[in-house]
Amino acid sequence: MNVIDSHMHSSFSPDSQAEPVTMIRQALRDHFSHICFTDHMEYNHAEEQFELDVPAYIAALRRLKERYAKKIELHIGVELGLEPWLADSFHKLLQQYPFDFVIGSVHVADGLDPCYPEFFQGRTEKEAYEAYFQAVYDNIQAFCEFDILGHLDYVVRYGPNRNRFYTYEKHKEIIDEILRCLIEKGIGLELNTSGFRYGLGHPSPHEDILERYHDLGGEIITIGSDAHSPEYFAYEFTKAQNILKKCGFTYYTYFKERKPRFEKL
Ligand SMILES: [Zn+2]
Ligand SMILES: [Zn+2]
Repeated sequence: MNVIDSHMHSSFSPDSQAEPVTMIRQALRDHFSHICFTDHMEYNHAEEQFELDVPAYIAALRRLKERYAKKIELHIGVELGLEPWLADSFHKLLQQYPFDFVIGSVHVADGLDPCYPEFFQGRTEKEAYEAYFQAVYDNIQAFCEFDILGHLDYVVRYGPNRNRFYTYEKHKEIIDEILRCLIEKGIGLELNTSGFRYGLGHPSPHEDILERYHDLGGEIITIGSDAHSPEYFAYEFTKAQNILKKCGFTYYTYFKERKPRFEKL
């Protein structure tokens, strides 16, 4: 059985043009048994509007779920763009809608998405990365009702030198705090393969962080391509499985009705 891709977007996200059905067709072509959509839900995201029309999203995906029921199991997830002041809004959202899977991702630190060069102005790259990790930690303290933390070192995509000088060791203290906090709260971690798509040569987070999560006792690990178009569906998943095995994992996780299910790697 193919490994389940737990992170992808469709045209319900403003940064994707892919009709959901095109992602489903891709999954079927590649003989996948499951598909899980996790479109963006954010409030006040800089210039673009990332607020998901949740009722329309769920209705559309439910129709597809029914239409393709005999061929593939469709899960309805969401990627929340965490910011501490949104804790109440997200709490209400998750009370209201029965998602299968919820990713908590930090796309904004110090009020800014690191994809904007201003994020790095007036400080060293290391300081900017540290500020991002601090924001991840603060977000988990403010709100922890999500299933897994998305792309823990997202900031590295956008640094002036990207991951050239970046190591886990340089940010060990704060990253360990994050990992311990996740484990304590029963939140999982994601291996996001988009790092390969961005030419970083590593998943997000870096292998050393995945290994550290395992060594600290972390067991809930999902695998996601973060595809925004069909050609990146389940991108580099063989590599991802090998990385996890090397880090000591024997199982990976996917979620249905907010409950983790474990599959052998
Ligand atoms: Zn994201
Ligand atoms: Zn995403």
